[in-house]
Amino acid sequence: MNSKLKFYQSIRVKIALVFALMLMLTLECVGAVFVRQLEHQNLNTFKQTIELPSYVDNSLSEQLSRPNKKKANQQMRQILSEVNNNNISEIRVIDSKRIIRSTSTSDNRGIVGQKTTDGTIKATLVNNRTHSENIYDSSNHNRYYVNVIPLNDSNNNVVGAVYLRASLEGVYSNINSITLIYLSAALITIALSLFLAILISQEITRPIEEMRKQTLRIARGDFSGQVRVMGNDELGQLAGAVNNLSVRVEEAQESSDSERRRLDSVLSHMSDGALATDRRGNVTIVNNMALQLLGVDHEDDLIGKSIIDVLDIRHDYTVRQLINTDQEEMIIDMSNEGNDLILNAYFSPIQRESGFVSGLVCVLHDVTSQQKEERERKQFVSNVSHELRTPLTSVHSYVEALSDGAWQDKEIAPKSLTVIQNETDRMIRMINDLLSLSRMDSGTTKLNLEYVNIKELFNYILNRFDMIIKKNENDENSKKYTIERYFTSKDLWVEIDTDKFTQVIDNIMNNAIKYSPDGGVITTRLLETHNHVILSISDQGLGIPRKDLGRIFDRFFRVDKARSRKQGGTGLGLAISKEVVNMLGGQIWVDSVEGKGSTFYISLPYVPYEEEDDWDAQETKD
Ligand code: ADP
Repeated sequence: MNSKLKFYQSIRVKIALVFALMLMLTLECVGAVFVRQLEHQNLNTFKQTIELPSYVDNSLSEQLSRPNKKKANQQMRQILSEVNNNNISEIRVIDSKRIIRSTSTSDNRGIVGQKTTDGTIKATLVNNRTHSENIYDSSNHNRYYVNVIPLNDSNNNVVGAVYLRASLEGVYSNINSITLIYLSAALITIALSLFLAILISQEITRPIEEMRKQTLRIARGDFSGQVRVMGNDELGQLAGAVNNLSVRVEEAQESSDSERRRLDSVLSHMSDGALATDRRGNVTIVNNMALQLLGVDHEDDLIGKSIIDVLDIRHDYTVRQLINTDQEEMIIDMSNEGNDLILNAYFSPIQRESGFVSGLVCVLHDVTSQQKEERERKQFVSNVSHELRTPLTSVHSYVEALSDGAWQDKEIAPKSLTVIQNETDRMIRMINDLLSLSRMDSGTTKLNLEYVNIKELFNYILNRFDMIIKKNENDENSKKYTIERYFTSKDLWVEIDTDKFTQVIDNIMNNAIKYSPDGGVITTRLLETHNHVILSISDQGLGIPRKDLGRIFDRFFRVDKARSRKQGGTGLGLAISKEVVNMLGGQIWVDSVEGKGSTFYISLPYVPYEEEDDWDAQETKD
């Protein structure tokens, strides 16, 4: 907006102009009446001054009635010369036959005796009435007043007429000079009043100007100024109102600013993503968390885009559907290769009191882990049911066969009972495994920690396996294998739960035996780094396909289900091992080549003893 008003648009100039124009109009009207009146008055006065005394008229009519024209003409000339009136330019006497009988001007004597053709004289003689007119003499540019008066005899018959001619220049120059004085006075008055009007209107408009400037400042957001309140008139009250308004606007501005800051801080510190749109569904506000969840670097990449494109749901929903609250909540799967992301989007329309929907708010909550847990829980329940159903079905069918009479069969009955026993044993193992997993999940498992020389313990466990080999040496059905040890010479004292650790090693060793061919070598190693001890158990067995390596520690995962079951496996051994090692603060992992063999590693935190260091140092010196 142009802040400077144009000169003629200023109220100050308008007031002054109106004032001056009104004055001009008034003076014009007054002047017109005055000049007209003055002219009228002056002309009347002038006409009176040039009236001939009645005795002159009488004498002239007497002379005209005389038969001796020559004598009469002389007499009349005498009479006219006696008329001493400077205003009259010429007096002529005309008889009833329109013959000019005498004239007052000696220069004009030549016209005496001539017949006049003047229409006014003619009319006067005919009508017996005075006629007058103003004439303009173009030869000397003078205005004249002509008055023709009839002359009567005693019987009131027209005997002639007196023709009077008087110059009006004197009268008019008088009127002109008065008019000129009036005009100059009027002009001075107008100029003075214009000047005064400007001063006054400036005074009147000063508070208005101040208010204008103040409102402009308010509009710019500068609330520091105040309009001076001068008097208690309408303008004073308006100035007070503007000051009041300024305070109110400042308060409103402050409260809306602090509200916006609060909203900004709430939005930026929200652990959920938040987006707001206009009524067409185009994004207007987006917080940092939403940017993070949607994998966008800068908010400018989202602002102005439709929310259904931003959330990639254009195929399933329209903006109208979202705004009409048909859809309050939805799960959006935004997973891409190698990155799982499941969002719960909650929509809420921004509604004015009138019911008009001006936009939409969308809150995004990352439910990836919940969804994953939920999926895993469902999978787990289905796995457990499936795993228990298989042995139960087989037990059921054997029991059925036995009760159908097979119990009498000396061959089938003991075999069936062995299968039933194996299957129930496996179920009991599985349920025990599940119970210990569930205890670890719920955190109720207590660790019985103690400092143990892990080299000794590992040796002790492997010795047990050596014993089993020895015991089964002559049993043709049992598997043959040898255990090799490559251990560090140092004693390694590690804080562990002996029973649980033994369970882990047992499990890995049993697997190594289970999934290896007869006569295999199982290589065990123990070494330490500056803060870890690392155990490894390698076999020369089946190995694990590369694609399954990542799932080997999952509950119920088995590379070959049938084979594992046949060997009494539950599919929970490695899952339990992983939980236990994690509880001990360590890690477990596997390295395997299919068909060649597998190596399981366990690393446990280890803090070397000071004395041992000293001792080691001494030993190397020796
Ligand atoms: P299971 O009771 O089936 O042995 P585990 O949890 O102990 O269950 O092992 C899970 C699966 O990992 C096994 O079914 C097997 O397929 C595979 N596995 C474990 N150890 C080995 C190994 N040493 N060699 C080959 N495969 C193995």
